[in-house]
Amino acid sequence: MNYRDFIFYLNESMNYELIIIGSGPAGLTAAIYSARAGLNPLVVAGLEFGGQLMTTTLVENYPGFIDGVQGPDLMQNMLKQAEKFGAKIIFQNVKNVDFANAEKKVILDNGKELSAKAIIIATGAKSRKLGLDSEQKYWGKGISSCATCDGALYKDKVIAVVGGGDSAIEETLFLSRFASKVYLIHHRGALRASKIMQERVFANPKITMLWDSEIIEILGKNEIVIGLKINNTKTEEQSFINISGLFLAIGHIPNTEIFRKVLELDEQGYVIVNDNTKTSVQGVFVAGDVKDKNYKQAITAAGMGCMAALDVEKYLQEQT
Ligand code: FAD
Ligand code: NAP
Repeated sequence: MNYRDFIFYLNESMNYELIIIGSGPAGLTAAIYSARAGLNPLVVAGLEFGGQLMTTTLVENYPGFIDGVQGPDLMQNMLKQAEKFGAKIIFQNVKNVDFANAEKKVILDNGKELSAKAIIIATGAKSRKLGLDSEQKYWGKGISSCATCDGALYKDKVIAVVGGGDSAIEETLFLSRFASKVYLIHHRGALRASKIMQERVFANPKITMLWDSEIIEILGKNEIVIGLKINNTKTEEQSFINISGLFLAIGHIPNTEIFRKVLELDEQGYVIVNDNTKTSVQGVFVAGDVKDKNYKQAITAAGMGCMAALDVEKYLQEQT
């Protein structure tokens, strides 16, 4: 247990007006708004304080920063802003929840049980990975899962996208604006993406399709990606391509494992909302990538965090 959490357990009650699960842009924005509204929220940060932006460098599209802002700096500032208004944070993970009664229970990894009148779920999502050792080695050094974030870094470079759904197509088309050439690598012989999107890819002279192809190794030099080793799944022939960047677009996995039995989720595991940020359980609200499978941006997650905090404020007023 770290010092901060130790002080917390010493001084704090275990009952709250609001518990926010997750400390990414959605969770911390919800904390800023709800703390400023006097709700004294508790943020349970999870294993990755600050969320996905802690794994990136310059964020160029978060409004208000003309020259961009380092992801970790942005998240530290959000935390300080939330704490300034009285939000509390603990660096624990939630392992279980019980939303059956009006008083919602949140059980931490260390066994402690907390409760609150309202909950905001902001547990985010993680991009699906290929599962290669070399992918881990070069993550962030030429491998990305966010074309909107990193595409501009590859002006006039040869790059590759892996995937066959709408995201892969969208990212390939977006990246073709910067790159000199984009390989779209798909493990089957047909794309899953919508027809109209497919046609745009096929008509783009900058894009080369690699069908029935799986990446078996990501090659690098001096800690930077320089190429891919590819296996043709039909002929079992292996080949190499030179690239400067690889973008993964093979889907996302929302962090909803612990809510599976207590909340309505869609077939991909994203939290379903009934009305703005309200989930299927009264008093439980949601914000950010754990609900959003389309936009997946820091600003949209933060915006939804704000919405969830305002919805909670109204809900708690109605309860009293
Ligand atoms: P996340 O940031 O995913 O945060 C989820 C939080 O939930 C984490 O704190 C985690 O610890 C916590 N959590 C999960 N499970 C539990 C649990 N069981 N108990 C407690 N806590 C839990 N977007 C942009 O707008 N611009 C960019 O330049 C940009 N660059 C990116 C670069 C990279 C490498 C990546 C991966 C993403 C990037 N994004 C960017 C996307 C952006 O980071 C996400 O859209 C945004 O972080 C989503 O915020 P969120 O709060 O919903 O979830
Ligand atoms: P997706 O539809 O699940 O597609 C994932 C793709 O990655 C599939 O082609 C899948 O192959 C492939 N894949 C999965 N695991 C793989 C692996 N280990 N190795 C190689 N390839 C792998 O995910 P998405 O494209 O992110 O889309 C998610 C949802 O958002 C969809 O409902 C989509 O329609 C929607 N979306 C819509 C738009 C739009 O309308 N503009 C844009 C983006 C996303 P298989 O095809 O073999 O399964």
